[in-house]
Amino acid sequence: KQNTVAIVGRPNVGKSTLFNRLVGQRKAIMDNESGVTRDRHYGYGDWIGKNFTVIDTGGYVHNSEDIFEGEINKQVKLAIEEADVVLFMVDADAGVHSLDEEFAHVLRRYIGKKPIYLVANKADTNLRANGVGEFYSLGLGDGEIYAISSANGHGTGELLDAVVANF
Ligand code: GDP
Ligand code: MG
Repeated sequence: KQNTVAIVGRPNVGKSTLFNRLVGQRKAIMDNESGVTRDRHYGYGDWIGKNFTVIDTGGYVHNSEDIFEGEINKQVKLAIEEADVVLFMVDADAGVHSLDEEFAHVLRRYIGKKPIYLVANKADTNLRANGVGEFYSLGLGDGEIYAISSANGHGTGELLDAVVANF
């Protein structure tokens, strides 16, 4: 089975933007609009010669801030079952959100079982990237918080270096 990375997090943090940056045009054939795959998108990425599958979760809640406990559990379960590495994305612009805490609560169960990287997106500037320390309160950034900008690519190289080191 190919190495797989899943991106999880509440709506609007930028999961799909990162997915598109990692995958480009290499969206998987299985990513059709049939009922079984509508809640996730698959694609292929590569970094320094290592190939991996990327899963963008959260399709069901596209364009909505409404997300419920059942959806969070489902998204995390999918990611943990299918992925070797989980990227938990939060929004550096918005700061810690109550839904981030709900995701973190579920994800903390898997600490030590799967590598989980805490990714603070929308860190478009150095000033913003330096301000992500508040996310340590989520209890998932023991090693490091990866401050990135999916929009301009800032920090994504360091994140990918860490991710592919698992492969
Ligand atoms: P998702 O719901 O988590 O998949 O989030 P999206 O990828 O759809 O992005 C939500 C919004 O955040 C969109 O308006 C994006 O353009 C914006 N966005 C995503 N990544 C970044 C980023 O790195 N910086 C900034 N400033 N905006 C971003
Ligand atoms: Mg999305």
